[in-house]
Amino acid sequence: MRERTRMIRRFIRKVLGRTGFGGFDGTRHPQHEPRIIPHAQHGISRDDIHPCALKVTRTLRAEGYAAFVVGGAVRDLLLKREPKDFDIATDATPDQVRALFRRARAIGRRFQIVHVYCGADTIEVTTFRAPPEADADALHQQAADGMLLRDNVFGNQVEDAARRDFTVNALYYDPHDETIWDYHEGVADAKKRVLRMIGDPATRFREDPVRMLRAARFSAKLGFHIEAATRAPIAQLAPMLERIPSARIYDEMMKLLLSGHAERGVHQLRAEGLHHGILPILDSVLDNPDHKPFIHAILHDTDRRIQDGRSASPAFMLAGLLWFAFKVEWQAQKAAGLPDSAAAYEAMDIILEQQRKWLAFPRRLDPMIKEIWALQPRFEFRNGARPFRLLDHPRWRAGYDFLCLRGHSTDPDEVAATELADWWTRFEAADDAERDTLLVTHASGEHKPRRRRKRTNTPEATGDEGA
Ligand code: ATP
Ligand code: MG
Repeated sequence: MRERTRMIRRFIRKVLGRTGFGGFDGTRHPQHEPRIIPHAQHGISRDDIHPCALKVTRTLRAEGYAAFVVGGAVRDLLLKREPKDFDIATDATPDQVRALFRRARAIGRRFQIVHVYCGADTIEVTTFRAPPEADADALHQQAADGMLLRDNVFGNQVEDAARRDFTVNALYYDPHDETIWDYHEGVADAKKRVLRMIGDPATRFREDPVRMLRAARFSAKLGFHIEAATRAPIAQLAPMLERIPSARIYDEMMKLLLSGHAERGVHQLRAEGLHHGILPILDSVLDNPDHKPFIHAILHDTDRRIQDGRSASPAFMLAGLLWFAFKVEWQAQKAAGLPDSAAAYEAMDIILEQQRKWLAFPRRLDPMIKEIWALQPRFEFRNGARPFRLLDHPRWRAGYDFLCLRGHSTDPDEVAATELADWWTRFEAADDAERDTLLVTHASGEHKPRRRRKRTNTPEATGDEGA
């Protein structure tokens, strides 16, 4: 029975061609014939594909479905980079995909994709979809300004290629015969290192303004030039980003900031005029010559960590981006009469809430952001028992890394950070005897650890050790 179904599917595929998919006759679109590029010309081997993705394409194919590795993975392999993840595109519906794998789950309600799990890995399987013009059933919805509200009409492979954003992102790799199916000259663009929008750029940016951020991200990450016609409408359409839900902006911004190319990415955002509606704070810090070096240090350090295969935390990044805004608000709260510590915590809440309107970062990041900030004044105390206690703080490392980066700032208020960071570097490396000699017992009169402090400049004055 199963064999029979498979044979019928193969027969249908033969008659319709591999791009034929249930219900779509392809007449609504000019049939783009893909350029089918053999292994000898592109060099991507089956062995380059994640074993889990191979298993998925093999299973789908054995059942008579089309199955390709698609998008970023093909692009990255072509550019001799290590893909971040392997996505699969198929003509099987989400239900059909799910039925084939023991560990699989449909994600999303209207626009379903299927996650197939093997071991700790997840492979995303997406059914071919059609671009909005093919909308006979009004399942695509567009607002008056052309923004796409829904995007869940299944389609054939030609249509699926046309609804993707950039030509280099619309490459399909068939692990079975090691060919690349190239519908929009993506391989040629990859060679030229050009980012080119598929279709009319202005229309495609209107459909989904986030594509503008993606253009900046890919151009920074891949070192690609944004083709002139693709770039042209961005400046004018940039304000459309203000209508994108802040949670989606956060996801896309984090992809940019944690791509390993944040420094170039932020530069690109500014070059395209895309930063205003995203993180207004970025405007002010990058325009301030004293603040800019610190922000660049944060971005640079994050890039280095990621390029070295280390982790980088969104909370650390946000603590950096918002540091100066926090300090200004802290001063304002003190000026309004709140004691130091209360002013600091009030300022933290105000700044985080304010920024969340633009960039909906999850609340679970707040405690770490606050802790990194709250630790900063505590580094100033280099006498008595306090430095020893601070070394044991669970967030000491993040706080110390942050302090070191603050040393890059030329803000007069921050210059002491360099010397402090040096002291803490020595203190951490020292053994107990050396540590005792490092303790500061000088002019300020802080000869001994004081049990109680009537007044300090730190948020922990109330005894609240870090948020
Ligand atoms: P990365 O390496 O950063 O994951 P990627 O190209 O795989 O890059 P994803 O966001 O994972 O990017 O998306 C996978 C694919 O889905 C893209 O290559 C592109 O073909 C398509 N895609 C994703 N987002 C959009 C969008 N907003 N508009 C059109 N196509 C999109
Ligand atoms: Mg991807």
